[in-house]
Amino acid sequence: MKRNFRYFSMVLAIIIMVSSVSVSYGKKAKNEPQVKYVFYLIGDGMGINAVSGTEIYNRYTGNGPEQVNFLHFPVRTQVNTNSASTLVTGSAAAGTALATGLKTYTGAIGVDTDRNPVGNIAEWAKASGAGVGIATSVAINHATPAAFYAHVSNRDSYDPISRQLIHSDVVDFAAGAGFLTERNVGLDATFYEQEARGEGVKVFYGAESFGNVKTEYDRVLCLGGKDLKELPFAIDRKEGDTALKDFVTTGIDYLYGRYAEEGFFFMIEGGKIDYAGHNDDAASCFQEINDFAAALDVVLAFCDEHPGETLIVVTADHETGGLALGAGEYKMNPELLASQKMSENELTSKFRQTFMPPPPPQRRGQRYGQGMAPQQPQWTPPSWEEVKEFLKVNLGLWDTVPVDKRTEERFYETYQATFGAKEGESEVRSLYAVNTRLVSDAVLYLDSAAGYQWSHGAHTGSPVGLYVSGVRAAEFNSCSENTDIPLLIARIAGYDIKH
Ligand SMILES: [Zn+2]
Repeated sequence: MKRNFRYFSMVLAIIIMVSSVSVSYGKKAKNEPQVKYVFYLIGDGMGINAVSGTEIYNRYTGNGPEQVNFLHFPVRTQVNTNSASTLVTGSAAAGTALATGLKTYTGAIGVDTDRNPVGNIAEWAKASGAGVGIATSVAINHATPAAFYAHVSNRDSYDPISRQLIHSDVVDFAAGAGFLTERNVGLDATFYEQEARGEGVKVFYGAESFGNVKTEYDRVLCLGGKDLKELPFAIDRKEGDTALKDFVTTGIDYLYGRYAEEGFFFMIEGGKIDYAGHNDDAASCFQEINDFAAALDVVLAFCDEHPGETLIVVTADHETGGLALGAGEYKMNPELLASQKMSENELTSKFRQTFMPPPPPQRRGQRYGQGMAPQQPQWTPPSWEEVKEFLKVNLGLWDTVPVDKRTEERFYETYQATFGAKEGESEVRSLYAVNTRLVSDAVLYLDSAAGYQWSHGAHTGSPVGLYVSGVRAAEFNSCSENTDIPLLIARIAGYDIKH
């Protein structure tokens, strides 16, 4: 009997131990504050120097707030970004790492190195009963947002990515500029918008229409406007253009309206920071980071109303361009960037409109600006003085920005190549744009004169910043890899991690 009792109490003790372990596993400890609302902000291509460079730019030009909000969060650390296949990652593998907590090969979206689909944090949030929102300033089926709802072995598979979003039972609120399409598939963006409507998704075009988004709608898709692939650069934004923060305001209203009790998970991407980085265009990059921070201001206002219930995690997928602060001298002149009023892309359009002949009927394989001058007898090329004046007015060259003789000679040679007086490249191709070389060189020179030196137009393997505020933020100091981030968010928010 005595022996039986001892055996019984031992079993009882084991049962108590086991049950207490299973209670605490994956759940919030009793006295911990409960995180209901999770905001996960990703600056695409937003390197550490670009963030600090933005704050310096703002202070010296007055073109943005004195402080970049997240740079002053209580937790600031850094994480490695390498993929499973390369030290320098791409948006797809990095997005997958940030969404799933697993490293995969560069180019993969939501699949592991064996191309098997893996679960992501948006799915875990939904399984816990939370609402899910995804917003980006680029196409809604671009790599970063796709990593939170799609599972494909190649990031360029825009058709299956779009279909997986449309038929998703995870995403409640999706917002992006529009849809990218696959040439081989031959469907245009309106096909996917129509397909979404067929699935019961309410589709809205442009910020002016977002006031009509109702909490009763089961699923919502907000687009930047008709026929857009990306929102305009913040530096080029015109009255009436949709901004990332419009998506965020609408998304928070909608998600809170539906999931105030259950909570929600909201991923927000500043997608065009990367585009500016690929162009090596500092002023546009900094204004894009300011725009991302403005979207975060909307989040911070929500958090002020819900203290102790929110977690905000800000990071980047990788660095783009390899921006150095300092261009070989022991000083910077960031105030010089004040003279740049538009992006390199916009400046190229303006240059073409001002100086180039009107485009002939499109011929296959021919790029605008190549070999057209001879067929346009009424067109005469601009003088060097006219072109100099253009660069003076639009970038401050030869005005606030001194140009040395050697640089002027180089610019003059490019001018000759641009207008057919000399052999040479008249255009420069970056990942997302083909710009006039003279404009591109002038922007690069301005950046360097201001003390911002770009290494190249590609991604780097540098670590990126991780900035955290809200409930249990200090725990993020333990993160050293990008994959640590979603796993920790899930543990804090009480989502069950399932790969
Ligand atoms: Zn990226």
